[in-house]
Amino acid sequence: MSDNDLRGLYQEVILDHNRRPRNFGAIASPTHHADGHNPLCGDRLSLTLTVQDGVITNAMFQGSGCAISKASASLMTDAVKGHSVVDAEALFEAFHKMVTTPMDEEPDESAVGKLAVFSGVREFPARVKCASLAWHTLKAALSGAEIISTE
Ligand code: ZN
Repeated sequence: MSDNDLRGLYQEVILDHNRRPRNFGAIASPTHHADGHNPLCGDRLSLTLTVQDGVITNAMFQGSGCAISKASASLMTDAVKGHSVVDAEALFEAFHKMVTTPMDEEPDESAVGKLAVFSGVREFPARVKCASLAWHTLKAALSGAEIISTE
C-alpha cells in the first residue's frame, strides 16, 4: 500500500482501536467461540462469546493481524456486546453491505454507527477481507462453526 492509501484508510478511530483494542483477551468459559483466518493478509483472530437468552452479554477477541483487522475486531466486539444475536446479525448485514458498496455508489452508513469509519476500505478490495474478518468469525461462532477462513 502507498502512503496515500494509508492516509485515506487509517483514520484516527482505526488507529486508536489498533493501539488500544477494546475487549482484548479471552472469556474463560465462553458459550460460543470461533477462530478466523484471512490468508490474504495473514490476519488471525480468536473470538469468544457469552450468549444468554439470545443476548450477547460478553465478547472478547485475541489474535494478530493488520491494524484494520484488529480495529475491526475491537469495534465489532464493542458494537455487539449487550445486544441481541438478531441485532448483531442485522449489523453484520449492514456492515457487509457498506464495505462492498461499489465506489460509484453512496454507501449506506445510517445503520452501522461508529463502524462507518470502515467505509473507506471499499477503495481497497483486499482490505475488505481484513475489515470483515471479525464479522465472519462472529457469524461462525454464533452458528456453531469453530474455524472460518475468508478464502
Ligand atoms: Zn489484514
